Amino acid sequence: MSDAELVLRSTRVITPEGTRAASVAVAAGKITAVLPYDAEVPPGARSEDFGDDVLLPGLVDTHVHVNDPGRAEWEGFRTATRAAAAGGITTLIDMPLNSLPPTTTVAGLRAKQDAARSEAHVDVGFWGGALPGNVEDLRPLHDAGVFGFKAFLSPSGVDEFPELDQEQLARSLTEIAGFGGLLIVHAEDPHHLAAAPQKGGRKYADFLASRPRGAEDTAIGNLVAQAGRLGARVHVLHLSSSDALPLIAAARADGVRLTVETCPHYLTLTAEEVPDGASEFKCCPPIREAANQDLLWQALADGTIDCVVTDHSPSTADLKTDDFATAWGGISGLQLSLSAVWTEARGRGHGLEDVVRWMSSRTAGLVGLGDRKGAVEAGRDADFAVLAPDETFTVDPAALQHRNRVTAYAGRTLSGVVKSTWLRGERIFAEGRFTEPTGRLLTRRP
Ligand SMILES: [Zn+2]
Repeated sequence: MSDAELVLRSTRVITPEGTRAASVAVAAGKITAVLPYDAEVPPGARSEDFGDDVLLPGLVDTHVHVNDPGRAEWEGFRTATRAAAAGGITTLIDMPLNSLPPTTTVAGLRAKQDAARSEAHVDVGFWGGALPGNVEDLRPLHDAGVFGFKAFLSPSGVDEFPELDQEQLARSLTEIAGFGGLLIVHAEDPHHLAAAPQKGGRKYADFLASRPRGAEDTAIGNLVAQAGRLGARVHVLHLSSSDALPLIAAARADGVRLTVETCPHYLTLTAEEVPDGASEFKCCPPIREAANQDLLWQALADGTIDCVVTDHSPSTADLKTDDFATAWGGISGLQLSLSAVWTEARGRGHGLEDVVRWMSSRTAGLVGLGDRKGAVEAGRDADFAVLAPDETFTVDPAALQHRNRVTAYAGRTLSGVVKSTWLRGERIFAEGRFTEPTGRLLTRRP
């Protein structure tokens, strides 16, 4: 490692080959070698030994709503990326909606990039959006570097981002498949939702009944059929319904180009424990029953679900009213996602290697960053989180970096404390303190 500028050591480094004691050599922001723990530090190189704290690749969160520009009071790039850094996330991919304008034109993408440029503590990339009537914007957005396109099949919650009907979905999919792009889909079927009882009010059970599993299952079934027919690559966002798992597995077996994500809140919170009126737990699709959650974990273990992302989607506190029908739907989890998932994963017999696979390497691969991010391996960016996996903390909303400190995790005791976070070989977060923003704007590799 004669050219190393920095050497990071731990008795537990998570590498693609497993966890082992190692020294990670870094130069010019990249990992240059992963060597034995006692490898000599070259003269002039900085070094740090994390002891038994785990050195893992920085997480790649491909589902984050930063609402800047336009609704920056909900979440901005400065606050979102600080929360990310504090949570061990070194790359986030921003969703195309809830900001104004939405990222559905190249001008909208430029507005996002301008908002993020000097504010980002971690690397930030962008999804585009597929709307009814913006088919001609998709190719220019792809060429401008978005990582793919998000579409809704049911109302999104904001007027400026309408959903696609089946015919419009086919049109967008055909266009995107034509240039080898990826469509990511909020899959709830509008007809199925409309047929469900819509009682409103404070009772979580009524809200759950208003967003049944069947709405997800139907929408995913339709999506899979269209993707299969058109040869398009699609990704199911925030899967909550375990009933859809068999059809997902069957579609894969049939050769449909399909990937699937779920979220920390579906894996760690259950419908049974949501207090009435507690709309900090509201998201769509909803948090479901404990038995459903067990099946999601099983699907992660067997690979039917590929990855775990936050779907961090905050609003101001005043929009989180106690009526589940009208409260803003979205859960804030960016800073807590690693600890929340790790806490539950370890209780179910999974290792940190599994969590890294679900939250870093697979997500990096999803957006085509698999050669740059998502692994402690020579040639990758030197992005790391240092985690004390056995230390615990109790979630105090006041300690969160999110712009709005409303969280469904308040008061929970979680395992796994992020000690420091590193971006391209520089420590960007440690002990509650941050450096000046050094995150870069990422674009899809042509
Ligand atoms: Zn979302």
